[in-house]
Parts: sequence; C-alpha cells; structure tokens
Amino acid sequence: MRNTNEFTKHQIVIIGGGSAGITTAAQLLRKNKSLDIAIIEPSEKHYYQPAFTLVGAGTYKMRKTIRDERDLIPQGAKWIKSSAKAIDPDNQTVTISDGTEIVYDYLVVAAGIQYDWDDIPGLKESIGKNGVTSNYDRRFTGYTWELLQNFKGGNVLFTQPSTPIKCGGAPQKIMYLAEDYFRKKGIRDKAHIIFATPGSVLFGVKKFAKTLNRIVQDRDIKAVYFHKLTEIRPDRKEAVFEITNEETGCKLIEQKEIIPGMEIHGEQKVVIPYEILHLAPPQSAPDFIKNSPLAVPGNPLGWVDVDKHTLQHVKYRNVFSLGDVSSTPNAKTAAAVRKQAPVLVQNLLSVMRQQTLQSNPVYNGYGSCPLVTAYGKMVLAEFDYENNPTPTFPFDTSKERWTMWILKKYLLPWFYWNRMLKGYGA
Ligand SMILES: Cc1cc2nc3c(=O)[nH]c(=O)nc-3n(C[C@H](O)[C@H](O)[C@H](O)COP(=O)(O)OP(=O)(O)OC[C@H]3O[C@@H](n4cnc5c(N)ncnc54)[C@H](O)[C@@H]3O)c2cc1C
Repeated sequence: MRNTNEFTKHQIVIIGGGSAGITTAAQLLRKNKSLDIAIIEPSEKHYYQPAFTLVGAGTYKMRKTIRDERDLIPQGAKWIKSSAKAIDPDNQTVTISDGTEIVYDYLVVAAGIQYDWDDIPGLKESIGKNGVTSNYDRRFTGYTWELLQNFKGGNVLFTQPSTPIKCGGAPQKIMYLAEDYFRKKGIRDKAHIIFATPGSVLFGVKKFAKTLNRIVQDRDIKAVYFHKLTEIRPDRKEAVFEITNEETGCKLIEQKEIIPGMEIHGEQKVVIPYEILHLAPPQSAPDFIKNSPLAVPGNPLGWVDVDKHTLQHVKYRNVFSLGDVSSTPNAKTAAAVRKQAPVLVQNLLSVMRQQTLQSNPVYNGYGSCPLVTAYGKMVLAEFDYENNPTPTFPFDTSKERWTMWILKKYLLPWFYWNRMLKGYGA
C-alpha cells in the first residue's frame, strides 16, 4: 500500500499546459465538467509561438504573444506548477520535480518539443550574438529584428536541421520577410540571401512548393539542397555544412559562383561565411520522454509512440499523446493540435467508458503552415498525411494573398486565445 502523503492521484493527468495540453483539458471539461483533471506545467507564462516569426520581423509585439498560464488553465482543472521528471506507465505514475508521484488513471502527454542546442558545435556559444539568431526561441526574436535593422551588407544565411521541427515553414518565412524588408529599405542589392537546407525541396507539398520556387527565383534567393549544418565558427562568422547527396557534391563548383566567399572542401563539406545566420535548432522529444517506456523504441528522437490515427499509445491503452511530442508524422503545428484534440478527447472518453474506438473519427494528419512570403502577403498550406491539400477556404490559398496575411496576423491569434484554448470547435 502507498502512503497517501507521498503521492497525489488524479483521474486524468496532462503533462504540458501549452497549445495541446490546454486545448485538450478545455475540450474534456466541456464534455464532462465533473472529470478530475490535473495539468503539470512549470511555466507561469503561455506563449503564442506562431507569432514569433512576425516579432522577429518587427511587425508584432512580443508582449501580445504572452498570457499568464493561470488565466488559461480551464475552470475545474488543477494546475500542478512543476515539471514532469519521469513517467512509469506500468505503475501509472508521473514523478515531478520535488519527487512527488502523481498517480493517474489516464495520461495525456503534451510536453512539446526540446531544442537540442548542443547538437551543433558552436551553436550554444554563438546564439543571440555576433549575427546568429533563431525565432524558434522567444529570447532571440528581438535580436533577429535588431540584425535586420542594422544590416549593411553580406551573406544572409537561413537554415534548418535534419530532425523534424515544429512549423517546418518558419525557417523560410523569416527569410521572405527579411528579403522584403531589405527591398523596402533600399538595400536589397547589398544582401546575398541564401537558403541552405538538408532537405531536397523547399516544401513537401507540390502545389505550395510551386509558388515558393517561383518566389525564390523571382526574388533572387539562392536555395541549395542537401546541406546539413554541422558547425558554427562564431569567431570567423562561418557556417560549416555537410553535403549529404553525391550529385550535389559534384556540382559544388557551380554553387561557388553564386554564393560569395563559399569554400569547398572535397565533395562533402562547404563553408559559407555569413553576416546574419538564422536557424532552427535540432529538435526532439524532451529527455524525460526519451528515457521513458512511452518513447518509440530505437528512435533517438524519442517521440511518444502513438497510433497516428487514434493518438492512443501503441502499448499503454490508457495513455494518449498529441502535439509536437507525439510520433504522428504530420507537420508539427498548433493547427495540427486543433484537429488532433477532438479525436483524442473522443477516444479517451471512449476508453474511459470501456468502448471501442472503431467508430470514432480519426486524425488524418491535417497540418497547416501559414507561409508568410512578404509583409502583407501569405500562402496558406493545408494538407494531410498523404500530402493532399485539405483547404479550409473556397479559393486557392497557394497564391500569395493579403487576406491570408490578415488571417495570420489578426484572426488566428484571436481564434487561438478565445476559441481553441477555451475548448471550442475544430
Ligand atoms: C517560430 C515558430 C513559428 C511557428 N509558427 C506556427 C504557425 O504559423 N502555425 C502553427 O499552427 N504553428 C506554428 N508553430 C508551432 C506551434 O507553436 C506548436 O506546434 C504548438 O505550440 C505545439 O503545441 P504543444 O502543446 O505540443 O507544444 P507547446 O505549445 O510548446 O507546449 C508544450 C508545453 O509543455 C511544457 N513542458 C515542457 N516540458 C515539460 C515537463 N517536463 N513537464 C511539464 N510540462 C512541460 C512547456 O512548458 C509547454 O508549456 C510555430 C512555432 C514556432 C517556434
């Protein structure tokens, strides 16, 4: 028998009070307000991350992205202001920072993503200074804007890691905004804008890639593929890339002509000097998830191993997961959470009633990427697991539109705070 002083018990425990955790708790309580739900979340603040790109481009105030977590915890849910440190799904417990064990009947893992700054030598030392920045971390969005404003000339390099990342479009969005900013300021001719990606395309869904390829060409942005960032040399302002494709390795000489100062070292390594370097850091599940039996076996990134349609854990039937931390192979976005939460809620309630999940709706992989392409212009990419476009609007959102910019800057934040986090609608 456990001593009741050493543990607390809740019917449903949610790890993480971000987009996914709050949305799920709110929807569950709308279905049944007598549910006993606890949310484990260490942060006193909640951030609307989709606007970080706009903050980095000087067109949105950081303070508008921040709310107090206590105002978002749905009425009826208990907030455990602490971090989860370990999960023992066989004994149905989560251990938090002070060592207390929280016992659960049902668990929802929504702990988001971890930034692995240490995975690229030189990154941790350089981020936030000497021209190296990332809108992925709110602490550096202001620095991005400062760099754009103070830019006088040189290579402006944008890159992303080879791990999955949240909002796959974010490394490009700030690039299009930077290019537009330099143009408006009359210094576009001083900037060599380079997008170096480990991927093989600008965007995985053809319909939207077509628009982005045209933009890159028309606006003289140099896009190079199969380039994996392996090191930053802050003292020399150089980024080192490994070339991951043989064919690209053979064509580096052609590339050298379009990228000022680029050095070639054999067929597998290039060094590109930068004045500004914006990157997305390598990303994975938080370590306490990686080290738990809930993680996908043999996958070093440690995502929570769920069925991609039901969001139920493949082994532990009383465990569910959604949002960035889950193994579902969709575009990791808040928009995906919006479609995942109702599916998870219905399935969790079915499991609680000992019903099968068979006739419940499934999650089809919906993700949405609002690709800001200039100040006042946006392409809205919406698609499913099969990369089929899944449009919400009755017009072609693969074209750059001012209305979509309005959606991004004004309507979606309103929807997020007032509808999604309150548990309304999909
Ligand atoms: C630059 C940028 C641009 C983006 N643009 C868009 C966009 O345009 N559209 C879009 O839909 N999405 C966008 N996103 C992605 C979107 O913000 C995420 O996909 C979404 O927030 C995922 O929700 P989540 O709940 O899984 O993670 P989060 O919202 O990050 O929440 C995770 C929560 O878990 C908590 N947590 C972490 N560790 C623990 C622990 N040990 N114990 C307890 N709690 C813990 C964290 O404090 C956090 O509150 C963007 C993200 C970034 C960074």
